[in-house]
Amino acid sequence: MVSIDGNIVSLREAASWAPGSWQQRPHTQQPVYADANELEHALLQLNQLPPLVTSWEILALKGLLAEAAEGKRFLLQAGDCAERFDDCSSPLISNRLKVMLQMSLVLVHGLKLPIVRVGRFAGQYAKPRSTDTETRDGIDLPSYRGDLINAPAFNAEARRADPQRLVRGHAYSAMTMNFVRALIDGGFADLHHPEYWDLGWVEHSPLQEEYRAMVESIGNSLRFMETLAGNSIGSFQRVDFYTSHEALVLHYEQPLTRQVPRQPGWFNLSTHFPWIGMRTAALDGAHVEYFRGIRNPVAIKIGPSVTPDQLLRLADVLDPDREPGRLTLIHRMGAAKIESALPPLLDAVKAAGRQPLWCCDPMHGNTETVGNGVKTRRFENIRGELDRAFDVHRAAGTRLGGVHLELTGENVTECMGGARDLLETDLGRAYKSQVDPRLNYEQSLELAMLIVRKRAGTP
Ligand code: PEP
Ligand code: MN
Repeated sequence: MVSIDGNIVSLREAASWAPGSWQQRPHTQQPVYADANELEHALLQLNQLPPLVTSWEILALKGLLAEAAEGKRFLLQAGDCAERFDDCSSPLISNRLKVMLQMSLVLVHGLKLPIVRVGRFAGQYAKPRSTDTETRDGIDLPSYRGDLINAPAFNAEARRADPQRLVRGHAYSAMTMNFVRALIDGGFADLHHPEYWDLGWVEHSPLQEEYRAMVESIGNSLRFMETLAGNSIGSFQRVDFYTSHEALVLHYEQPLTRQVPRQPGWFNLSTHFPWIGMRTAALDGAHVEYFRGIRNPVAIKIGPSVTPDQLLRLADVLDPDREPGRLTLIHRMGAAKIESALPPLLDAVKAAGRQPLWCCDPMHGNTETVGNGVKTRRFENIRGELDRAFDVHRAAGTRLGGVHLELTGENVTECMGGARDLLETDLGRAYKSQVDPRLNYEQSLELAMLIVRKRAGTP
């Protein structure tokens, strides 16, 4: 794809990359800060704070993602659409981990593959918006862009882009990380104790029986292997969680982009695995410019309007060296479009000799608005897109190596359908999201079971 001339250009550009070179490119979805001094002060503060993750964790994750691309692991990337500062609390964080651990137990059991767990957390505080302003009763105010930027209340002070929120976002991410790390180090994720992951409110779930049977079977295998080995198998006591977020607000990412001793290049140390959202994936835009210079594994969301040519150019810019584990392509086409929109992209990437990690986000192409303006998603569509994703990959000779979901450990009613068949009239009961509708516990577990059945080749 890349001509000799193209190579020369890209080498010249690579030489001029810096953590702030994105500022010379057209940028969309960035907040407007009224006071440049106030912003400068916040960025200096951020620049002095310790990082949230380390370069060796980042490189370890890159190695795991490379194995997922080869079919030796499966990626489970999940969490809230957007975290809120007020949600930085013990039950909300631990319940989200519990759901992800239960899902990964189902996946390990059924796929017979290790799972790479990546949370959409510890930094998922900013949202792209379709309009810069919101109008109510004739009053225009800036849109709510996530807690990293402003607050949802409809008044001028709440909607002002406040640079100190960037600093607070770092602090809330650090608190979240600290708690997740402490739980994992304390044995919370120990496969010998899946009872730690029980959610108090889940009673008589139609899926509990199947889940219990899997827990039992894994417990038996574990005891069998430990009897053979003559001691406890340490690696089952510890599973890792990595973090990810949409690196949308580049003023936040830039001061956390650092060099480290004994490693060449630059790392984004605010998260292990940042991604570029669908709305900010322009080839010549600020986000692609920022991402091309960092050494983290990176992901990009691709929707139905991306052409094969655009995708190949993006891959050339973001992963010019074809480094294993560097590039994850998260497709989010919608149940109705995946069968027509995905195959040309898979064919083109395959024909170019690339082997990215392919991941399916069955959430964002299936959002709809029902009566009185409530945003929801039908479980049938989410399930349908994921189901078809496996088939489309199989037909193209490529491999679906991961799934990207919006979910919560709370008993919410935001998506319709699922094991309890939630109806439109149920949505009002426990709809808590300020942004996109999330899967609840049962719907998440059901999806994990679907993946297992699909990979096992049973209908
Ligand atoms: C998201 O992941 O919350 C999101 C906005 O996704 P996309 O960029 O795919 O629309
Ligand atoms: Mn979302």
